Amino acid sequence: MGRYIGSVCRLCRREGTKLFLKGTRCYTEKCAVERRAYPPGQHGQGRPRISEYNTQLREKQKLRRMYGLLERQFSGYFHKAARKKGVTTDYLLQFLEGRLDNVVYRICFSSSRKEARQLVDHGHILVNGRKVNIPSCQVKEGDTIEVKEKSRGIVPIQKALEGLDTRGLPSWLELNRTTMQGRVRAIPVADEIELPVNVQMVVELYSR
Ligand code: SF4
Repeated sequence: MGRYIGSVCRLCRREGTKLFLKGTRCYTEKCAVERRAYPPGQHGQGRPRISEYNTQLREKQKLRRMYGLLERQFSGYFHKAARKKGVTTDYLLQFLEGRLDNVVYRICFSSSRKEARQLVDHGHILVNGRKVNIPSCQVKEGDTIEVKEKSRGIVPIQKALEGLDTRGLPSWLELNRTTMQGRVRAIPVADEIELPVNVQMVVELYSR
């Protein structure tokens, strides 16, 4: 299956919640979920299907779509988390949050994860002073994440940083706004990751 190229707002409406896929627009009243809070399509306003499987599936899709992953990539993270000793939901969230593209988004160098992936792909981001252009790269505690000096004037990065006060910085990250340098203070624990998803249901789905 290839990457989804349709309207991302449809995905949010399908899941009935904001997945923050479109950058600054997500924080305005133009957000499609705010304006049309029902699933897209001809039968969008019909009676929803409520089964245990369907509920679990929707939670999984929400989580997968938020991070912009293909099914194969997402299930890879799940199985890696499930193989570890301990709580699978915690590991799953840590793997997802620890992706470099996610950290670039969380630290406000981009206004969406998709934009963050592009910044990483195009070599604008340095990890511990070295260019890393692999969005799925896992960051570690103490890693520094910064925008390459030559790239600091890029308009989307400047705009994303302006949104820092609205979006806020997670407690596990720190940022020097002036120098565009950030640091991973610690790998986040589940309580520090705010998501509109019941991750336990995702585990239940894969355990069927
Ligand atoms: Fe989702 Fe953002 Fe579109 Fe709103 S504006 S529906 S949060 S992608």
